[in-house]
Amino acid sequence: RAKAGGRSRFDFYTEDLTHSARQRVETERRLRDALAEGQLVAHYQPQVEIATGRIIGVEALVRWNDPERGLIPPGEFIPLAEETGLIGPLGEWVLHEACRQGALWMEAGIAPLVIAVNLSAYQLRQTDIVESVARVLRQTGFPADRLELELTESALMEREGDTLGVLERLRAQGIRMAVDDFGTGYSSFAYLRRFRLDLLKIDKRFIDEIDQQPDARTIVDAIIAMGHALGLQVLAEGVETRSQLDILRDQGCDLFQGYLKSRPLDPDAITALLRTDSDRPLPLQAASRQRL
Ligand code: C2E
Ligand code: MG
Ligand code: MG
Ligand code: MG
Repeated sequence: RAKAGGRSRFDFYTEDLTHSARQRVETERRLRDALAEGQLVAHYQPQVEIATGRIIGVEALVRWNDPERGLIPPGEFIPLAEETGLIGPLGEWVLHEACRQGALWMEAGIAPLVIAVNLSAYQLRQTDIVESVARVLRQTGFPADRLELELTESALMEREGDTLGVLERLRAQGIRMAVDDFGTGYSSFAYLRRFRLDLLKIDKRFIDEIDQQPDARTIVDAIIAMGHALGLQVLAEGVETRSQLDILRDQGCDLFQGYLKSRPLDPDAITALLRTDSDRPLPLQAASRQRL
């Protein structure tokens, strides 16, 4: 590959770089336009109480509905949005959209207890983040104590900015706090205690192996025990099989999210699911095993 066509390795290198740099600028422009033109959509994935099988929450997950390329998953544009700062307005859009939708569900009498929204490290560093969340709640009329903000371990542990102070001010409004993808980063247990969180979300990679690898099962056991000892609820992410759910139930895990119950759904589909779920009576523990 070096010398091909008489060009040096260096030429190829700079060409590649220029190409990918140009692509990034182009994607950034398209994403900015998408946000302005209303091409972003929020989908919602149910969070299920393991003991009862009921949907107690939904997590808002953004997608980019590109007219040419179709529905683009967040893994393909959130990292760029974080690098460019576009995650600021994008994140605020998702928050506003989820709270607006939540208020509609409340009017219809089918609202889940909690709506969870992902907050990136960048947003947490924004000086006006507390005020902008408060403003969204005011504008949409969605109650603060039904909103849950999800932060990754690395966002929490970041020393830049006054993370502790910001979280305290958000919690003072009644907002719930969750740690996302728990177990993949580096958390200081001392920090976890100081932050006064509400929910630990165990990362999917442990759940994937829970019915195959004794080690994964031991780790999940330990996370649940630690979470409960700190007074937190514990949720398992990415549950796909009955056998995983059975183990988690035995382990005393409180909640799960995963394809076993439902993929993230568009607003119409999730609304239909919430309607069905709130229609049915609270199942007995034994019956709930068959319902899922
Ligand atoms: P996350 O917050 O950890 O969200 C869970 C991801 O796991 C979602 O992927 C969801 O579709 C997927 N998932 C849930 N259950 C299962 C399962 O049983 N099997 C499999 N294979 N996957 C499952 P998604 O929607 O592609 O989102 C990926 C990530 O993008 C999110 O991970 C989150 O970090 C980020 N993200 C999504 N929406 C937003 C947003 O509005 N703001 C920010 N800052 N990040 C977002
Ligand atoms: Mg999340
Ligand atoms: Mg997660
Ligand atoms: Mg994840």
